[in-house]
Amino acid sequence: MNFPGSSLAGVALFLFAAITSPAQDLAGQYREKTQQLIQAAMTDEEAWDRLQYLCDRIGHRLAGSEGLRRAVEWSEQEMRRAGLENVRAQPVKVPVWVRGKESAELLEPVRRPLFMLGLGGSVGTPRKGIEAEVIPVSSYDELAKLGESGVRGKIVLYNVPFTTYGRTVTYRSSGASRAAQLGAVAVLVRSVTPRSLQTPHTGALSYAGGISRIPAAAVTLEDATLMQRLHDSGSKVRVRLRMEAKSLPDADSANVMGEIRGREVPEEVVVLGGHLDSWDVGQGAHDDGAGCIASLQAVILMKKLGFTPRRTVRVVFWTNEENGLRGGRAYRDELGDAVGNHVAAIEMDAGAERPVGFGVGLPAGFRDPSAAQQALARIREIARLLEPIGASEVNIGGGGADISPLMAAGVPGLGLRTVGEHYFDWHHTHADTLDKVNPEEFRKTIAAMAVMTYILADMPERLLPARTGVK
Ligand SMILES: [Zn+2]
Repeated sequence: MNFPGSSLAGVALFLFAAITSPAQDLAGQYREKTQQLIQAAMTDEEAWDRLQYLCDRIGHRLAGSEGLRRAVEWSEQEMRRAGLENVRAQPVKVPVWVRGKESAELLEPVRRPLFMLGLGGSVGTPRKGIEAEVIPVSSYDELAKLGESGVRGKIVLYNVPFTTYGRTVTYRSSGASRAAQLGAVAVLVRSVTPRSLQTPHTGALSYAGGISRIPAAAVTLEDATLMQRLHDSGSKVRVRLRMEAKSLPDADSANVMGEIRGREVPEEVVVLGGHLDSWDVGQGAHDDGAGCIASLQAVILMKKLGFTPRRTVRVVFWTNEENGLRGGRAYRDELGDAVGNHVAAIEMDAGAERPVGFGVGLPAGFRDPSAAQQALARIREIARLLEPIGASEVNIGGGGADISPLMAAGVPGLGLRTVGEHYFDWHHTHADTLDKVNPEEFRKTIAAMAVMTYILADMPERLLPARTGVK
C-alpha cells in the first residue's frame, strides 16, 4: 500500500540501495519516486484551479478582512475535500489595520496627483490632510545631517534606490519614527522595488516606542525621483497627504492545516507551507497565494501517488505574516516542547517564479557540528534529484518568516528559492495578480516542494538527531 506507484524495478532498486548503503544513498533510494512526483506536478491542473479561485474569487486577504475570513474557510474545505487527515483551523487573534481613503497631491511647484499607498500600520492624517514642504533624503545619514532644524515641520521623502530588499526595506519599516524623532510631520517612502510602472508598494512599518506616530505612505519610483528633481533644481516642493488609516481591535483568524500521518514515526513532523494573508491590494498571487497552494498540492500529489512517508507531513497556511506574524508564533507556541519533534520546516514565500533550489537555515550552536554538516549534505543530495527541473542549488541561509519561530527553537528551516527576476516588481502592489504567475514555473515549485518534503519525511534517519530534553 505504501508504494503502489513504484514499478517492481523501482522497489528492487530501493531495496538494493538500502542494503548496500544503509547510511544514505538518498539519490538512489528516491530517484524513481522523485520522477513520479515531478511528473505528477508538471501535469497537474488542480493547483492552478485552486490558485485561480483564491485570487479571482476571494482576492486579497489582509488580516481582519472579509477576504481572509473567506480564505480560511475555503482552505479548510479544500484540505478536507482533498482527503488530508487532521484538518483543522487553529484560532489566532490578528491585528486589524484599515486603509480607508487616501491620497497624496503635489501642490508646488507643479500640481498633480501622486500615486501612493499608505504603509500598513500607519496612523491617518487629520481629515483635511497634512500639507507641508517635502525634504528628500537618500539615507539615514543624510537625514541625520539635516538635523532637527532641517526636518521639523516637513514631510521627509526617503528617495532610496533599491539595492537588496533587506537593505532597502529599513526605510519603509523604520523611516517614520526616525523622521518623527527630528520633528517631521509625515514621511513618503520610495517604493521598495527595483522597477516600476507607477506602482506604489505597501508593506508594514513599525513605530518605535516613545516617539510620536506620524503618517507614512509609499510613493512610486517615478514620483519620488520627480520630487527629487524638482527639489534639486531649486524649487520648494509641497505635498498634501490625506489618509484615513486606522487600527481596530484584534480580530479572529486561524492557521489552517492538514496532514498525511506518518506510517512509522507519526509524532515526527515535516511542516511546509506559506502564508494565507496578503496585503489589501492586488490578489496576493505571488505573495503568498502561490506558496500556500503549491505546498498544499505537494502534499495532495504524495497522497494521490500513494506515498505515505515514515514521518508526518503537515501543510500549514499561516495567518497574518504580513503585519504581525501572529500565525507563525501561535503555531510554534501551541507545540510547546513538542517542537523538538519537528524534523524540518519548509516555507515557500518568495513567489512562484522558476525555482532554483533551497536556502537552508540550520540551528546555530548545534551540539554536534558534524551532524549539521551531515544534514546539509543530505539536503544537497535530495536537491540534486531536482536537477531535471533546475532546482538543485542549496545555499546556506534561508527559511521564512512564518517558520522563523520554529527555527529559533532549533528546527532546521528551508525556503524555496527562485530566480527572483520579478518578485519585487509586484510585491505588495495592485499588480500582484494571477496573470504574473507562469503556470509552468508554478508547477515546478510544486515539484520542488513535494520532492524535498517527501524525502525529508521518509528518509530512514531524521535530518538532525533529536535534541535531548526536547521531545
Ligand atoms: Zn509573503
